[in-house]
Amino acid sequence: MPELPEVETIKNELLPYVVGHHITGVTLIWEGIIHQPSVEEFCSRLIGQEITGIARRGKYLLFSLSSGDLLIVHLKMTGSLLLKPTLAEPDRFIRAIIHLDKGTSLFFRDPRKFGMMRLVKDDSSIASKLGPEPLEPNFTPQVLAQCLTNRTAPIKALLCDQGFIAGIGNMYADEALFQARIHPLRSGKSLSPDEVEHLHQAIQQVLRSAIGNKGASTDTYFRPSGEKGTAHFHFQVAHRLSGKFCPVCGTPIERIVVRNRGSYFCPNCQPRQT
Ligand SMILES: [Zn+2]
Repeated sequence: MPELPEVETIKNELLPYVVGHHITGVTLIWEGIIHQPSVEEFCSRLIGQEITGIARRGKYLLFSLSSGDLLIVHLKMTGSLLLKPTLAEPDRFIRAIIHLDKGTSLFFRDPRKFGMMRLVKDDSSIASKLGPEPLEPNFTPQVLAQCLTNRTAPIKALLCDQGFIAGIGNMYADEALFQARIHPLRSGKSLSPDEVEHLHQAIQQVLRSAIGNKGASTDTYFRPSGEKGTAHFHFQVAHRLSGKFCPVCGTPIERIVVRNRGSYFCPNCQPRQT
């Protein structure tokens, strides 16, 4: 599933090819990808608009349009946005094509059909649901400590909760907890001030490094060019199958389920003291 580094990579790599371009048409191969407004209104309000900017908030992409409207895209489990020649033959997983001027189009590929697009007036529908951005300067160790106060949920579940921190999912939560040497089942409030500091640093390092490696292609994630990211080659514990060993101490990596999510950790480096 694309998380913050994958969505940030897509944003960065689309920017030079999309901003300043006009939308000349929309082809909907699967109409269910449009969540708001009606399909007819979506197409009529989109066509003719210039894309004036792209931003990321959590795992959402926000395309600003010259009309003032905002096109919100969520890739969910298996979505990718591919830049291709307008006349390229869509493969069987392409659900929508946004045609741009100058012969290039944006192909929304989504094998499992969980992805969505919404055309709205502003970002209020998502802003109220999302916690702080972990790479913004105002996300300090103090802010993280404040978020953790009185939280009894497992730290792994909190990190994956978009209302707690925006943009982190299963892969990068496992990586950050390993780097901070914190067991995934520790409660949020049980972390010492030192552990909170380490976790804050680990979250930022893990996300920045993954952005540097253009995201992790463990599954169906592709960059807009169709190339894969390489962040998963640097994972220490995430997505390790049984039989792999901790790169630090050599102990077999364990997998447990935390709130329905498979979680990988080293039982030696990440002991469960409270
Ligand atoms: Zn270890």
